[in-house]
Amino acid sequence: MTIALDQPAIDGAIDDASIGAAGIAEPFTGESDFPAPWGSRSNLRITGVRSIVTAPEGIPLVVVRIDTSEPGLYGLGCATFTQRWHAVAAYVDEHLARLLLGRYPGDIEDLIRLSRFSGYWRDGAVDNNALSGIDLALWDIAGKRAGMPVSELLGGRVRAAADTYIHASGRTFEETAQHAAALRDEGWRHIRIQVSQPGRGGYGAAALESPLGNRAGAPNAHGWDVAHYLRQTPQLFAAVRHELGDSVELLHDVHSRLTPKQAVILARSVEEFSPYFLEDVLAPEHWDRLPEVRASSPVPIAVGELATSATAATRLVTSGGVDFIRCHISTIGGLTPARKLAAVAEAHGVQTAWHSPGDASPIAAAANATLDVTSPAFGIQESHVFSDAAREVFPGTLAIEGGWIRPNDAPGWGIDFDEKAAARFPPSLSRHDVWAASVRGPDGGLIAP
Ligand code: MG
Repeated sequence: MTIALDQPAIDGAIDDASIGAAGIAEPFTGESDFPAPWGSRSNLRITGVRSIVTAPEGIPLVVVRIDTSEPGLYGLGCATFTQRWHAVAAYVDEHLARLLLGRYPGDIEDLIRLSRFSGYWRDGAVDNNALSGIDLALWDIAGKRAGMPVSELLGGRVRAAADTYIHASGRTFEETAQHAAALRDEGWRHIRIQVSQPGRGGYGAAALESPLGNRAGAPNAHGWDVAHYLRQTPQLFAAVRHELGDSVELLHDVHSRLTPKQAVILARSVEEFSPYFLEDVLAPEHWDRLPEVRASSPVPIAVGELATSATAATRLVTSGGVDFIRCHISTIGGLTPARKLAAVAEAHGVQTAWHSPGDASPIAAAANATLDVTSPAFGIQESHVFSDAAREVFPGTLAIEGGWIRPNDAPGWGIDFDEKAAARFPPSLSRHDVWAASVRGPDGGLIAP
């Protein structure tokens, strides 16, 4: 892992003698413990694999760069697990690089299977984010070699652009409604609404400082209270609908804090306001109960942000547990598993809503947009408006115009990475891990994020 500018690519051994008479390379026969299992149609080889961590918005982002034997041809991938970035960087640099050096970068599927199976135990968030960095970088190389955006490698677009949703929040219903109205006036058509909660539970809104009225003697008088939340959320929807009418679609993120029965109670309480979907109603520990929750819910259910494998996400789709599948694509392993998941969703009438906040880098945002415009299963895309600093570090970062996002036409992802600029934004331990384990109930008990 590096955050410095001048670290050279790792040299990989390329055995010129292995290149056959017709320009067809024979299997790599160097010192690698993981020799290529077959020849390749060119002698292009992977010569460097390394991670770089940068935080232009204060959120550590893990980038993987793969260099090749062709001067100037490299690929960039996103491996961002912002709460555990040290572990992912070491995984890439210390464990995966040696598997890949000397291999032909066009064998993406084999290289990902090799990376995955070599660990024997697999499908954790650290594992799959590391694999995503490799996977997305290899797809970037494939696009650059073909002179095509990755969207064309996947078969081309089925839509011109992807519609997105953005977040509105406030300390009161009125503040949230005013924020949502301002966003509507900017052109957004899908708005996720949240309001301050006791106990730092507001999803972007400020924490509610004053304790609720019935907390005398409570160990944590400022804690998050599920009964209060269940009474308050339909009032939030009512206030925003009163302000905005039917001019926008409304969404809401539960952040996994409910039991299955509470999720059904919430869904029925907001039915009259026609939400576009309720996001992450149950924690992953309880996903087996999602089919019954969805069957009893009058509004669409969107789950999957915390899936740490395509296998788990696929089960959500095939079990009938979701109307929208919304994974963080680097945490399920990158484009290769995500495009298969989108195909399963398409076959089951489930729509996609890929997770994409500030802890997905602009490279991952480009991969999301590519999936969005190439998959018939697309439903909606979560948006993040990147700062000028992020745009400087990642030239080519996609813009969202009037709520619409579209991938670049440039080869690969069309996103570059300025390591000199990146070095100005060194990472520190993420505040996200504080956020993820800081919501407690009135009794002091920790609430799952
Ligand atoms: Mg969410």
